[in-house]
Amino acid sequence: MRYFSTRGNKTALTASQTIVKGIADDGGLYVPEEIPSLCGIPNERSDYNAHAIEIMRHYLTDFTPDEITHCVDSAYNKTNFSAPDIAPLFQTPQVSFLELFHGKTLAFKDMALSLLPHLMQTSLKKTENPKTQVILTATSGDTGVSALEGFKDIDGIKIIVFYPENGVSVIQKQHMITQTGKNVFVVGVKGNFDDAQSEVKRIFLDAQLNAQLAENGYEFSSANSINTGRLIPQIVYYFYAYSQLVKGGMAADTPVNFIVPTGNFGNILAGYYAKKMGLPVSKLICASNENKVLYDYFETGTFDSNRPFYLTSSPSMDILIPSNFERLVYALDGSLEKLNCLSGKKKFEMTVPEDFIGFYATENESRDAIKKVFASQGYLIDPHTAVAYTAYEKYAKSNEKTVIVSTASPYKFAKTVMTSLDSKYEKYDDFALLEQMSELTKQEVPEQFRDLKNKEILHNKAVEIGEMKNTVLEIL
Ligand SMILES: *Cc1c(COP(=O)(O)O)cnc(C)c1O
Repeated sequence: MRYFSTRGNKTALTASQTIVKGIADDGGLYVPEEIPSLCGIPNERSDYNAHAIEIMRHYLTDFTPDEITHCVDSAYNKTNFSAPDIAPLFQTPQVSFLELFHGKTLAFKDMALSLLPHLMQTSLKKTENPKTQVILTATSGDTGVSALEGFKDIDGIKIIVFYPENGVSVIQKQHMITQTGKNVFVVGVKGNFDDAQSEVKRIFLDAQLNAQLAENGYEFSSANSINTGRLIPQIVYYFYAYSQLVKGGMAADTPVNFIVPTGNFGNILAGYYAKKMGLPVSKLICASNENKVLYDYFETGTFDSNRPFYLTSSPSMDILIPSNFERLVYALDGSLEKLNCLSGKKKFEMTVPEDFIGFYATENESRDAIKKVFASQGYLIDPHTAVAYTAYEKYAKSNEKTVIVSTASPYKFAKTVMTSLDSKYEKYDDFALLEQMSELTKQEVPEQFRDLKNKEILHNKAVEIGEMKNTVLEIL
């Protein structure tokens, strides 16, 4: 399988080369030259790892079977995931929730970021690359925590994470600033996620800086969802969810809708790849919060990220320039003109593909959804999943099988979740609310959160957007 940049550079790369490089020199994203079709769905009796191996071997064709198995087993195991199924499906008569939050940092980013460090190490070996890789990442919260956890203390790699100082939850921030590991650096940014991400992209492509780093034995790499090593592992759980439905009695070949709470468009794009590979997906339902740039596109066919930015209670979806949308534009249209509009924040029109439909949820609607699902099912969902549940209610074709992709544990967003249930929780701080939530659900507070409050703060730097480049130089 060869990979090409979305921006027209004709150089073909192997999977391992794209995993090391992250982003193409012309600023494009790497895409496989074709989406492979799977002859038959993996057997529904096989486990998560078997699904992962079967799907990924079609993309990572320069990895040996042993290498793929080694990477998969190093990522998806009892140390890294608290659920034996890795990605269990919580089934109710109406709708199922695909729980992607049983990894180290309790959010769906762990699905790919527990695997990426292993894919990267193997890729570095294969490409005989002696340089220290500098993982440079902008995060809206969950990527940062998850990437830090995945890459900490991995030889040959340093990781620098920039997060918007006022754009992540108290608990996400506490996670990042207390992160241990001799190769990790965490820096707050005075700006929003899109600003930070755009600046990271610029730093990546700064030729002079890259030359300077190369002289010193360094090279940039990316753990952001634009890396193919993150996209490909995400295809797996769509197949796995389907297998679990079949195992639960659904007839094979039944079309299923997936509702995906969307920010950077990485998760749902993996669903699109799964569909193109032959998974019987009916609609991919793109759920947005009030930053509804994607909803507006799917409704009207006009994509326009030039609009006000809102901070919402689903911060991982507070994104107006969804990076991975570039891969969809490339797949559907491929014109450089549109891709340039995308990165230049100019609006453009593109025929809406039938595979998708968009919905969005207001803050009140998502809060109501948390309350309603808990009242009716005794099941607590996080604010991102609540956006997806709202989309489910708006779509409401109850005769169709539907899976809601649940992207975070409610514990990560205790304040929003608990105050949505009852305003009496407003007087508590985020940490006290973990205890309250535990009492309410009769489940223990997840281990990762138990001592969080008392951990030593190891990173307290905050910089302006314009200082990010110098900060990188200082760190290295
Ligand atoms: C990252 C994230 C999302 C958005 O996923 P994309 O792949 O960026 O669309 C949704 N929910 C949570 C909890 C996340 O961490």
